[in-house]
This record gives sequence, C-alpha cells and structure tokens, in this order.
Amino acid sequence: MPANSSSFNLMFGERNKLPFGRLGHEPGLFQLVNYYRGSDMICRKTAMIRVFKEELKRRPGMFPKWLPMSFIICPKKISENATKMGEASVAAMRKVARPDDRQELVETDAALVQQERKRIVWIAKSAAGAKGEGIRISQNVDELIAFIDTQAQGFIVQKYILNPFLLDGDRKFDIRCWVLLDNNYNVYYFKEGVLRTASESYKPENFNDVTSHLTNHCLQKELSANFGEYETGNELFFDEFNSYLKKKTRMTMDNTIVPQIKEIIKKVLLMIKDRISTNMLGYGSFQLFGFDFLLDSQLQVHLIEINGAPACAQKLLPDLARSIVQTAIDPVFKPKSPKGRGDNWFSKI
Ligand code: ADP
Ligand code: MG
Ligand code: MG
Repeated sequence: MPANSSSFNLMFGERNKLPFGRLGHEPGLFQLVNYYRGSDMICRKTAMIRVFKEELKRRPGMFPKWLPMSFIICPKKISENATKMGEASVAAMRKVARPDDRQELVETDAALVQQERKRIVWIAKSAAGAKGEGIRISQNVDELIAFIDTQAQGFIVQKYILNPFLLDGDRKFDIRCWVLLDNNYNVYYFKEGVLRTASESYKPENFNDVTSHLTNHCLQKELSANFGEYETGNELFFDEFNSYLKKKTRMTMDNTIVPQIKEIIKKVLLMIKDRISTNMLGYGSFQLFGFDFLLDSQLQVHLIEINGAPACAQKLLPDLARSIVQTAIDPVFKPKSPKGRGDNWFSKI
C-alpha cells in the first residue's frame, strides 16, 4: 500500500505529527488513530490551567482541591516582540491577547501570606517543559515572574505542596497512572502504577536542592549519587507501596488513594469531552495518558500533570501494550482469535 493511501484501518502516528485530515474520508471504512486531536489542552501545563479556569467561569464553584492553585504567566518578552511585529501576525496577536495572571498571582500571594502568617512556596514550570527541566521553586513571586520574563515560553506558577507523604519518613515520590480513552470515550484505569521516588532526603529548607524536590526519573538518575539505592531504578510498584502504606498508616491504596485518583481522572477527561470526542467524526481515536499525582501527608491526592505520550516502566510494557490492544483495538477490529492473549489490566471507570 502506498504511504499516502487513504485506505487503512489503523493509523499509528507520532504525537503532534498526525495527519488527522487524512482520516474518515473513505466511505464504509472505519478508521482508528492512536491520539485524540486536541488532547493537548490537558497535556500542556498552561493549557490545562486555562481549561480549568474557563470551566470555573462556566460553572462557578471552588477550584478543585486536588489541583494545586495555579497561575499562567506569559513572558513579557513574547508579548513585546509580538507587539513589534505589528497586527499582521495573527499568531503574534494571539500571544499578546493571552491572558496573564501575574497581577492575580501577586495579590493572592500577599493575601495568603497574611492569612497563613508565613511565606508561601511556589513552583514555576514551563508550558511544554518535561523531565523536570527549567523548574524553579521559590517563596518570592516577584523573583519567579522576573525569571519567567526572560524565558521564551509561557509558564505556570503553582502552589508548592510542602507536606508530601514521605517514604521511610524522608523521601518524596510522585505517582504515575496509565489511563486509556477508547473511541467511545470510555475511560479505563490500568491496575498497576508506579511511584517514582527521590533517592535523596526531602529538604523543605532548601528549594534549590533539585533531587530532594523533583522526583523526575531522569533528574534522579543524572544527579543523585544514591540513584537505585532504595528501589531498583527509583521505582516502587503499587503492590509494594500498598504493603508499606498498610504498615505505616493501616490504610490501603484501594481504600484511600485509588478512589481519589479515579475520581480526578474521570472529572478531567469529562471536562474536555465535548471538545475532543470523535463521536461525531468519521473516524475514531484512542489514546493512552500518563496521569501524575502527588500524595500529601494527609493522604490527599493532588494532580500534578498529564502526559499525552507517556513513557512506561520497562517491567510493565508487555502488559500495557497487550491491554491497550485488548481495550481499544480488539473491540473495533474484532480479531479472529482474541483468546489466549492474557489478562486485560485495564478496567473501565
Ligand atoms: P515535568 O513535566 O517537568 O515532569 P512536573 O509538573 O511533573 O513537570 O514537575 C516535576 C516534578 O516536580 C514532579 O514530579 C514533582 O516531584 C515536583 N512537583 C511538581 N509540581 C509540584 C507541586 N505543585 N508541589 C510539589 N512538588 C511538585
Ligand atoms: Mg511532564
Ligand atoms: Mg512530570
């Protein structure tokens, strides 16, 4: 089949490079593709916060308690450059018009300092940043805004979770869950997840100590002398953590943490359903997401970020790959002999 043929059932493409325009034009042929067009609105950090804030305007209420308070900051440099380029550039105009929450951030910080009678800690993360790169943590919002103004992309400034649940009393971790959306917008939760641990102790008095505060696998691997010392590859799987949790708190993953995680996943994906569903289109999408969470010392789950093309722990790859096929592909293109593939680790939530 030629590379540009339009008769195919399944398209596997790379994120941001998918020719969605080629899909759904062959009469009588149902086509399936491995991404949802528009899912970036929850996978880019600034976009996700914008979606939440818009939702809040539409349905007034509280900012969800599981999403750390966040503000979008667009570097002045971008706005000024865009203005210089004049009205001709639509993209530039869009950039100028982008809402920026700097005023609100400064005011909120001042109000919180008053209220809590202590400095508030903020974390600045770039829109498309990944792997913990370019992150700053500080108690000084002016300093963070000045830093962002020297950068070339938008940032979010988010309330830093100061009281994470710590392993062995002193190491931070984040939680990665894999989530699958099928072509009917059913949401599935993968039963095995992983904690990515820090291999240095948590130092709330020193925010420049990267390996104490950022649990990204690559940062730990690169910068911590103790990488792999406590857990192989700084990874702890749910079963192991569950035993630890039971011993320490008498709670289990299933009675405290997993229900919160599932609730958050459902809420977020439902929020954007109208905007990305392929229900009315001539083709279907499915997509794997990596939802990352932080657990605080009260066992409250907080959503940290959503990855639209998530990596997977090596150990889980065969089970994840098989379960994706079983959940998102087999029901659409029924295999001749679906039996004998093994258990499906996804369950609908
Ligand atoms: P990246 O895309 O670079 O991985 P993240 O949002 O996942 O960006 O942040 C990187 C790491 O920083 C997280 O894994 C977590 O350890 C820490 N972190 C991020 N946001 C917060 C927060 N609000 N409070 C405490 N720690 C955070
Ligand atoms: Mg990321
Ligand atoms: Mg991350």
